[in-house]
Amino acid sequence: MSHLASVPLLAVALLIAAQSPALAAAVKAAKCAQCRDTGRLPCAIHDRASARYQAFCSACPEPACCKGVGWKPCPRCADEATRKRFDAAAALYAKEREGSGFYPYGADFLRTASEHFRFKAAAAPHKECHEYHAAAERAFALFAKVFGEQAVDELKWDEKGHFLILASREQYHKFLDWYYEQHPNANANEKDFLREGSGVRMISDRLQVLIGDPAYGARGERDSLLHRIAHAAGHLAIENHKVHGHTPDWLDEGWAARSEIEALREPQVYCVEYSSPGVGERKPKDWRQIVREAIRAKKAPPLEKLFEMKVGDMHAVEWATALSLVTWLLEQGQPSFVRVVDAIKDGQASKAAVEAALGKDLAAIERAWQRWALFH
Ligand SMILES: [Zn+2]
Ligand SMILES: [Zn+2]
Ligand SMILES: [Zn+2]
Repeated sequence: MSHLASVPLLAVALLIAAQSPALAAAVKAAKCAQCRDTGRLPCAIHDRASARYQAFCSACPEPACCKGVGWKPCPRCADEATRKRFDAAAALYAKEREGSGFYPYGADFLRTASEHFRFKAAAAPHKECHEYHAAAERAFALFAKVFGEQAVDELKWDEKGHFLILASREQYHKFLDWYYEQHPNANANEKDFLREGSGVRMISDRLQVLIGDPAYGARGERDSLLHRIAHAAGHLAIENHKVHGHTPDWLDEGWAARSEIEALREPQVYCVEYSSPGVGERKPKDWRQIVREAIRAKKAPPLEKLFEMKVGDMHAVEWATALSLVTWLLEQGQPSFVRVVDAIKDGQASKAAVEAALGKDLAAIERAWQRWALFH
């Protein structure tokens, strides 16, 4: 990579970072030793970073410590908004506990919830449910890290990030019947297609439905359901950021895979497996190698073509290229990545958005990404 070319970009990134109030605040020493000026005291038992993190669970008693929220407002310095956020989360979990929770389906399922996601799971072992939101929250952490707290708030996620984990294909078909009855205007042509799949994202409801049976997961991997949850958590976040939709598939899928990596170290899920098998014999975790080989053989998909591609038309190499490109864009710095996504969400084409954010034409961007991909 040319160092000369990267210097002006870095300078722009630093300039923007220096203007950010969050960074300015972080540079100053924390005034409150208790909460480090975050306004939140993490609960030692319900720490979100722990694999056993459990916020709300209908099969567990209500935790007296933090009501399951995972943190408490700092008694010294929490502001009004932080207190309100705590009260709202506690109230939501209380509602779940009564059984008047989030999605009007499967009232007798096991219900769990964390800060950003709700789960209803049929026929899943109780302990396993506690791992679901840990995987989803760790995946979602990438969104919070890249787009910031304000973007998290704008998702109005408290009421919207829903997972329904069904036990079997039969139950999944019953759910689809129920869904189409409830939503007479839903595109009925899709129903037959969806019946063949092993899960579906009902975009209008921010609902992800998955079949929990490992037979429908990523090729016999033991923890494939967790991978599908982490992957889908990424989709739910990026698809609902700013505006509904306006998420080209390369970005949607690349971001979901990045979120899965954030949560579980490597990707196991090709999204197209939700609807059909046969994306290629290569494993998702070999994505870097798939891309390197394609570039060397001059068979990497041109970015201009990738930008217009639907996920259903992607094979292993296009899928891996989408993930590689998103990874590279993130490495160009958080501000420029956010500029790319924001421009796309405002309706710009991917090509124009990437060119404007990086200040180069697509041919130069493609060369820079390829040079990086050959050695990463
Ligand atoms: Zn429990
Ligand atoms: Zn607690
Ligand atoms: Zn996907």
